[in-house]
Amino acid sequence: MSMNRRTALGIAAGALTGSLKPEPANAEQTASSAKTGEGLQLTDYQPRSMLHVPETKVLKARYPVIDVHTHLSFAAKSAKGVPLSPERTWLTTPEEALGVMDRKNLRILINLTGGQAGGLRDAVARFDRAHPGRFLTFTEPWWSRASEPGYPQFQADELQRAHSDGARGLKVLKTLGLYLRERTTEGPLVKIDDRRFDPMWEACGALKMPVAIHISDPEAFFLPIDRFNERWEELHNHPDWSFHGADFPSNQQLLDARNRMFARHPRTQFVALHVGNDSENLAYVSECMDKFPNMHVELAARIGELGRQPRASKKFFDKYQDRIMFGTDATPHGDKFPQQVYSDALYEIYFRFLETEDEYFNYAPSEIPPQGRWRIYGLGLSDAVLKKVYYENAVRLLGLHPIGTA
Ligand SMILES: [Zn+2]
Repeated sequence: MSMNRRTALGIAAGALTGSLKPEPANAEQTASSAKTGEGLQLTDYQPRSMLHVPETKVLKARYPVIDVHTHLSFAAKSAKGVPLSPERTWLTTPEEALGVMDRKNLRILINLTGGQAGGLRDAVARFDRAHPGRFLTFTEPWWSRASEPGYPQFQADELQRAHSDGARGLKVLKTLGLYLRERTTEGPLVKIDDRRFDPMWEACGALKMPVAIHISDPEAFFLPIDRFNERWEELHNHPDWSFHGADFPSNQQLLDARNRMFARHPRTQFVALHVGNDSENLAYVSECMDKFPNMHVELAARIGELGRQPRASKKFFDKYQDRIMFGTDATPHGDKFPQQVYSDALYEIYFRFLETEDEYFNYAPSEIPPQGRWRIYGLGLSDAVLKKVYYENAVRLLGLHPIGTA
C-alpha cells in the first residue's frame, strides 16, 4: 500500500494490528474532510455501489425450505468453548420462530444445538412436539464426560437414548478439534479422529442419524490478524475467533483429521457444515466430496464466499446437487453476527443468492459487510437444483415425509 492511499483512507498504521480500537466517527472531522476525504476511519467507510443493476426482491422462497442449520437453544453453561450442561438457554419461542417461517416459506427448522438428556427432551417438547412437522432437534455429545473411563460405550448408548427421545441427528460443534482438551478445558487438545468417538460415529450410522459437523473455520482465522488478513474487521471485532498460533493445529491438519474419521465410518452420513468449512477452496471441497460419498454440505454463513466466486459455485452446485443442503446458522437475536441473525432479511438474501442472477449485492443484512469487504453475485439455480437444495436432499437424508410444493 502506498503512503498516499494509506493517508487517503486515514488508516493509522497501528489500527491494522488489531491492537487498537478504531476511532468512532467524528462529525466535525467528517464534515471538514468531505472535500479531501482526509480523516476517514476504516470503520466509518461505507461505500455505496454506483452500479445500476437489477435488484430482485425475493420475499418468499420459490419452493418450501428446510433450514438444516439453526440454533434455537444453547447449553446453559459452557467454559472455554466447551458446552457443560444438558440444560438449555432458549433463544426464541416457537411462536416467534414460526412468524418468520410462515412469511418466508420455511417449512422446517432444524435446531442443531439440542443438548442431551433432560435438555434434549425439553427442546423436543418445546419445539418438535408442540408444532409437529415444523421443527426437528439434534442431540450433542457429552463433551464434559469425554475423559471419563467407559466414555466410548456410554456415548454410543446415549445416542440410542437420544434417538428414543426424538433427536434426529448429532451435532458436533467446532469444540472438537479446537476447544475440547484432555481434562475438558485443560491439557492437550483432543483430536478429531480420536478412537474414543468411534462407537459414537458408528451408532449414528446404525440409527440413521446424520452427523452435522463443524470442523475448523475460515482459512483467514488461522492467519495473523494483520493488514493482509481478508477478514481483518471480523477478527478485530471477535478476536476470540482467531486460531492463529498458540497450540492450535492448522486448518489443514484439522481437515485431514476429519477426513480420516470420515473414511473410517463409511456407513455414517456426515453433513460437513459451512460448505465443509473450506468454501474458499471449492476445488478441495470437491476433492473431499469425490473421496467420501458419505459427505454432504450445507451453505450456512458462507454465501459471502460462494457468492464472490459465482462461476465456480454454480459448477459446484450442479455437480453435487444431490448432496448440498440449505442452511444459514440462523440464531435468533444473534445481533453480533449480522450474517446469521434469524430474520426475514437474512432469508431474503439467501433466496436472492440462490434464485436470481442479481449482481454485486450484500451477503448480510448490515451496512458494513461483517465477514469481509466484498459483495456477491446470484447463482440463478435451475428449478430442479433449487428444489433439491431447498428441501429434497434434506428429506432424503433425514428420512422425512415427502414435502409437496406449496
Ligand atoms: Zn452453527
